[in-house]
Amino acid sequence: MLQANLNFSRLPERYLFLDIAKRVAAYSKAHPEADIIRMGIGDVTRPLVPAVIQAMHQAVDDCAAAQTFHGYGPERGYLWLREAIVNGDYKPLGVEMNPDDIFVNDGAKSDTGNIGDILAPGSLVGITDPVYPVYVDTNLMRGNVIKYITCNASNGFTGDVPSQKFDVIYLCYPNNPTGAVITRSKLKEWVEYALKSGALIMYDSAYEAFIRDPQIPHSIYEIEGARECAIEFRSFSKTAGFTGVRCGYTVIPQELMVSDGKGGKVSLNSLWERRQSCKFNGASYISQKAALAVYSEQGRAETAATIDYYLETARIIRESMDAAGLEPQGGENAPYIWAKTPDGMSSWQFFDLLLDKAQVVVTPGSGFGPAGEGYFRITSFADRQRTIEAMDRIKKIL
Ligand code: PLP
Repeated sequence: MLQANLNFSRLPERYLFLDIAKRVAAYSKAHPEADIIRMGIGDVTRPLVPAVIQAMHQAVDDCAAAQTFHGYGPERGYLWLREAIVNGDYKPLGVEMNPDDIFVNDGAKSDTGNIGDILAPGSLVGITDPVYPVYVDTNLMRGNVIKYITCNASNGFTGDVPSQKFDVIYLCYPNNPTGAVITRSKLKEWVEYALKSGALIMYDSAYEAFIRDPQIPHSIYEIEGARECAIEFRSFSKTAGFTGVRCGYTVIPQELMVSDGKGGKVSLNSLWERRQSCKFNGASYISQKAALAVYSEQGRAETAATIDYYLETARIIRESMDAAGLEPQGGENAPYIWAKTPDGMSSWQFFDLLLDKAQVVVTPGSGFGPAGEGYFRITSFADRQRTIEAMDRIKKIL
């Protein structure tokens, strides 16, 4: 009989958000009158901004006429979008980027999960813990060996640069779930480590638009040498509310090389182009036109205002958690607030308590990895008034 990919048996039995949904559904069934406030899921709640909506309407109209209709697009994404990315996201940082370093996709999740296609299976992968579960699960599916790099209060939730060698390291800043950001000097340490040891860094900066502190780097390519050792993932999901539209991009600098196994080198950019042209047919023309609108003057101003709204909500959450003595982290240059459960409760015990006594849903920290035990994550993506009410309810039961 045909055998399944047995690596799937190495995955955690249940996906965190599915587990949360099941518990919430069971509670709702038992308490149909309960007014539940959901602050667990990282989905945005603000609508798309007018600049994006106008661009999408126009793109739909383009598809209605033979002269302006668009079918399959270029494998790497339309050049007009890649040029807007180079000029809008990298030039202001003083980073030289070539449009051919960029691959437009249907959101960062696909590429952060699929990138392993172009690397040898069985790699030793270092993953910061707690972590966005996709990196762990997709590496397990591939048969890679994972070792956690613990992030906790003692290292500012950014992990100590390891002394051992890894093939691949995953970093995510601003971080999901802790909301931690990385300083330029710490990021420099990681780049130096990678250049010295030959590791490849997967840098996920899906939340870079939330950075307001001018000292915090937005891109790993702000650090010298990163073009030779890092791939960067970005997304319009949280930057511009594209969680349902789907568009993001991956940067693979053309000088980034790995061994070809025959004593020579091969470019990861060319391997990824080969992989994408085989397995991916591009983000839709409509999504890419919508993404382009994010870089217009109007688009920039409107998306920045939406992020300001989330950051103000994050400030309210952080202050409330602080007043409750739960030692909050993050929420200043990130949409997530990471706080300690009270009285040494486990993450799931506190989740159940909040659901039962306050009808508020948070995300249990242990779902993001072993170092998340004893913590919980709150997102700032919910409605402001509902968030304030949730904070009042939590304060009352503590
Ligand atoms: N990376 C991180 C750290 C995330 O938290 C998310 C979504 O929550 C993603 C990537 C994927 O985003 P998308 O596929 O919507 O671009």
